[in-house]
Amino acid sequence: MKEGGRKQGAMSPCAACKLLRRRCAQDCVFAPYFPANQPQKFASVHKVFGASNVNKMLQELPEQQRGDAVKSMVYEANARVRDPVYGCVGAISSLQQQVDVLQTQLALAQAEVVHMKMHQATTSLDHDQPPMHVASNSSSQTKSFFAMDLVVDKANMGESLWSC
Ligand SMILES: [Zn+2]
Repeated sequence: MKEGGRKQGAMSPCAACKLLRRRCAQDCVFAPYFPANQPQKFASVHKVFGASNVNKMLQELPEQQRGDAVKSMVYEANARVRDPVYGCVGAISSLQQQVDVLQTQLALAQAEVVHMKMHQATTSLDHDQPPMHVASNSSSQTKSFFAMDLVVDKANMGESLWSC
């Protein structure tokens, strides 16, 4: 990527050097990330951060991270140009609000699922009970103890649903 920047710089100045009206050196730190055909990218970061700050920030980073740094700086700068008051914080806080709303909706939906599962457990218990009652009524007392065990098991299942 740097080789490409150098070759380009040798022929014509990068977008940064063109805007700053300076000679684009062989080792120009901007050249790999601000090609001459995309002048708006550098114009934005220059307006918001200042060329010398961008230069300093890039110099302080290892080369493999500079491309990402430029992308995020361009994004931040464009957001600041669009929204001079909040910049990219406007986008972040609006997304944060969406996250809060969606988390509330998710919590409500999860609570509803738990309620429905508990209701289902109770309803299936109701369906199970009549034959049990018939069985206990018709034969011995031990059958009703089975029915009691069943009730306790279902209640435990409901509790474990709440805890997870
Ligand atoms: Zn340059």
